[in-house]
Amino acid sequence: MKKIAIILAIAGLFCACQKQKTFQYNVDKFYDLEILRYDVPEFDQLTLQQKQLIYCLSEAALWGRDILFDQNGRYNLRIRRALESLYLNYPYDKNTDEFAAFERYLKRVWFSNGIHHHYSEDKFLPEFTQEWFVAACEKAGVEYDENILPVIFDPAVMPKRMTQQDGVDLVAGSAGNYYGEGVTQAEAEAWYAAHKDNSPEPLWIGLNSKLVKNEQGEIEEQVYKVGGLYGAALEKIVFWLKEALKYAENDAQKLAIEKMIAFNETGDLKLFNEYCIAWVKDLESRVDYVNGFTETYSDPLGITGTWESMVNFKDLNATHRTQLISDNAQWFEDNSPTAKEYKKEEVKGVSAKVITAAMLAGDCYPATPIGINLPNANWIRKEYGSKSVTIDNLMHAYNEAAKGNGFNEEFMIDDEICALYDQYGAICNDLHTDLHECVGHGSGKLKPGVSKDALKEHASTIEEARADLFGLYYLADPKLVELGLLPNMDAYKAGYYQQMMNGAMTQLVRIEPGKDIEEAHMRNRQLIANWVLANVDPKNPEVEIIERDGKHFMQINDYEGLRRLYGQLLAIIQGITSEGDYETAKDFVEAYAVKVNQDLHKEIRERYQKLNLAPYKGFVNPVYTAVKDKDGNITDVKIDFTEGYVDQHLRYSRDYSPLPSVN
Ligand code: ZN
Repeated sequence: MKKIAIILAIAGLFCACQKQKTFQYNVDKFYDLEILRYDVPEFDQLTLQQKQLIYCLSEAALWGRDILFDQNGRYNLRIRRALESLYLNYPYDKNTDEFAAFERYLKRVWFSNGIHHHYSEDKFLPEFTQEWFVAACEKAGVEYDENILPVIFDPAVMPKRMTQQDGVDLVAGSAGNYYGEGVTQAEAEAWYAAHKDNSPEPLWIGLNSKLVKNEQGEIEEQVYKVGGLYGAALEKIVFWLKEALKYAENDAQKLAIEKMIAFNETGDLKLFNEYCIAWVKDLESRVDYVNGFTETYSDPLGITGTWESMVNFKDLNATHRTQLISDNAQWFEDNSPTAKEYKKEEVKGVSAKVITAAMLAGDCYPATPIGINLPNANWIRKEYGSKSVTIDNLMHAYNEAAKGNGFNEEFMIDDEICALYDQYGAICNDLHTDLHECVGHGSGKLKPGVSKDALKEHASTIEEARADLFGLYYLADPKLVELGLLPNMDAYKAGYYQQMMNGAMTQLVRIEPGKDIEEAHMRNRQLIANWVLANVDPKNPEVEIIERDGKHFMQINDYEGLRRLYGQLLAIIQGITSEGDYETAKDFVEAYAVKVNQDLHKEIRERYQKLNLAPYKGFVNPVYTAVKDKDGNITDVKIDFTEGYVDQHLRYSRDYSPLPSVN
């Protein structure tokens, strides 16, 4: 399912934790990108076997890097290799503007796993000239395929990794390499239609292959497998998956790894289904992983999987937190301010799994999702379930790295709020997410006869508002202190301040001038904040936006009063949901969620731009080193966090680059 994409320009919102900032989270910054480092807490507490497993799975992850470069564009490996070769053999003084521009471009190519922006998918152009590049390569003795020159320098050549333009052939018009040269959208669609599996447990035809045109002009499938397309990389991946097998924690995990190995060796999609089922059934293991052709957003036809890997292990601390909330689900349901007729008599909480990422690769690196929800095949999800996890240590790195970037100082009303937020912001954010996911969505019930789809296009905004309000209402409840989840009855105020400031003001930095709010979570946040502001006591407002020296700030005068307003709105939104009241849902969304206050928007964007923050973040990985005895057995795994961005990519290209330049 949809990866939870992240544009954490506003990561500053969630910042803060009690821990001292000794770990170096900030690594590098160029263009609109910032490189961070993530910590791997609890790694030292893993058993040797778990560490050995992580080591092997991490190796299997790193060997796939070339695959993604090639999937993103057929010239990418040639370009990356020419650039790296020039970088390493640069024949002139490096203290020049040209070299700096060249280095920035290379860093950007690494970040995007190719020459198109990882998010906008537009080709980015170098700030050095073709003449400069050609002359420098010649002087340095760097050889390259001349075809890469227009691909790098001509803005008209391969301008988009994936085209979405109406009337343009999605396949032929996209620079991505999911289809061979000359294949058209109509031809690819016809091939898929002819090969579609309509059985109840269908094979995902096309997931692991590229459609190409043979010499007779017929469409042919090249399968990603050992001995097939990307075989040299998949061979290495299989080798390390087999090593990983030796350290599997239990039979369920072992079975899943075996299926993944067999799938990579044969390309047989039936084995992929069996792998997915085995993987989703493995719930006991502490260590887990994704490794393979997974999400399909980058294929213009949405069929072929992009290679990715993430190695991770269960975060026991955070999982305990969600378990505690889930265990009290019935108490939360019974005590919520919603009408009795809309409550569930019997409610089950879900315990969200929280994981710690240990290695990111392929399409999870350097830019990464903050959650995983797999497998993607609907019939498997229905029959066998799915795994949905949030990745706490990456969130934590975003938050920590944002500390001191000036965001809170600019937008929060005074030092007191900043300090409160520094102390309790992170825990409030975690708990609010937990309440939203573990009990919020599962709370309440529909009146008999009301359809799940009654709210139509407003359903997701209303549903997200319902879960958010449930979380907000309980964030201020003494129950959380009683359960030991919050330290005192002041802590929640950090979460309340953040919700009001973000919902009514600072989230607008992500909206282009003149545009409405479209995304459901953003709509829900503004709906809540703006409804509250419109429903305060006019004589003694519980919360208001005030102006000071031409700048606007959120001011909360009465936190308990604010909680009452959240509770009132929760009851209303629950009513809308339970009754399937489309008209009221529409009125609420239109009145509070969609339209942007133009003057405030302009002001917020101007203030934000002055902070000069990079909207996109990515990571460097830690380095794992296996300590071996004289017989070659791994006796320990060391983790190190000192490698920089450039060194990491050069090392990966040197040590983990099995594919030929042309595949
Ligand atoms: Zn939600």
